Amino acid sequence: MSKRDYYEVLGVSRTASDQEIKSAYRRLAVRYHPDKNPNDASAEEKFKEAAEAYSILADAEQRRRYDRFGHAGVSGTGAPSWGAPGFGGIEDILGDLFGFGDVFGGSRSGPRRSTAQRGADLRYDLEISLEEAYRGMTAQLRIPRLETCDTCKGNGAAPGTKPDTCQTCGGTGQVRYQQGFFSVARTCHACRGAGRVIKTPCSGCSGSGRIEREKQMEVRIPAGVETGSRLRVQGEGESGAQGGPSGDLYVVIHLGEHDQFERQGSNLYSSAPITFAQAALGAELAIKTLDGQEKLKIPMGTQTGTVFRLKAMGMPVLGGRGRGDLFVSVTVVTPTTLTREQRKLLEQLAHVEDQDLEDKGLVDKVRDIFG
Ligand SMILES: [Zn+2]
Ligand SMILES: [Zn+2]
Repeated sequence: MSKRDYYEVLGVSRTASDQEIKSAYRRLAVRYHPDKNPNDASAEEKFKEAAEAYSILADAEQRRRYDRFGHAGVSGTGAPSWGAPGFGGIEDILGDLFGFGDVFGGSRSGPRRSTAQRGADLRYDLEISLEEAYRGMTAQLRIPRLETCDTCKGNGAAPGTKPDTCQTCGGTGQVRYQQGFFSVARTCHACRGAGRVIKTPCSGCSGSGRIEREKQMEVRIPAGVETGSRLRVQGEGESGAQGGPSGDLYVVIHLGEHDQFERQGSNLYSSAPITFAQAALGAELAIKTLDGQEKLKIPMGTQTGTVFRLKAMGMPVLGGRGRGDLFVSVTVVTPTTLTREQRKLLEQLAHVEDQDLEDKGLVDKVRDIFG
């Protein structure tokens, strides 16, 4: 890919003054700064492109070479490679220009980019029933988390006072040491990298800028979730420190045990007791589902342990279409008590069965002889 012309990148003419170049760059830097465009790769590219163009055109000698020879005149000399020693990174270009706190919403003595921290992600473990997972639900959550302090609006200083710029590091949060050719940056010990010192801490938050508070919120739990499902609620984690963005909230689902249904993926499993007569004669059963009841016809001569499948009576598929199935295993239950009539009928049945077995036995013997 060919490099864009630096003047074109900044949107200025070739005869632009230093001041015009500076303000053009400032406009682009504010617009495409990574802090304002998180996770936006194209904005980051534009930001870097603008920074590179500015680094060349703001330098009189580099600009002259660029004007004569184009990109070839400045390649390897002026074009910054990020993080290279001596260049100092994007922050320094911007910092030299106008100071970070100024641009990104803070006060002039406020925090710089390097101190803004994203808030922590939070995890909330939510136990729900199988029925709730089946239908989906709205969960009311109460989440203790760190939020920006109202009293000081997050800057940590008592009302009527302001944090002071750290004298040791001049507000950068870092102290640079020259070690031979390289310049090494270390976190400032006086302010612990915050770039500012609070003389009178806010009483609401003890100067931290954040307080723990219980946040109530509603979270929609979609149908079909299962144990281990994670739902991300963007920006509902802890507030960031020093103007950083909030973290995310993750709701982790746990399903309680159910006394009738077992679940595997989107399928459900249950069992149904049947009588000997139902097993022998066939029957229409009323099977419990998570929705109510469903009819199931079992054929004559059903054996205990036979599994029947009720299509689409299982769990909804999360984020998809359709449902799993319900598998019902039937168990023939031997009665432990009998009414007089049942006893009489069963005795008759037993008698018939005896005859039946004897007859069969006889036939078999005959077969054995002549077969
Ligand atoms: Zn406070
Ligand atoms: Zn400091």
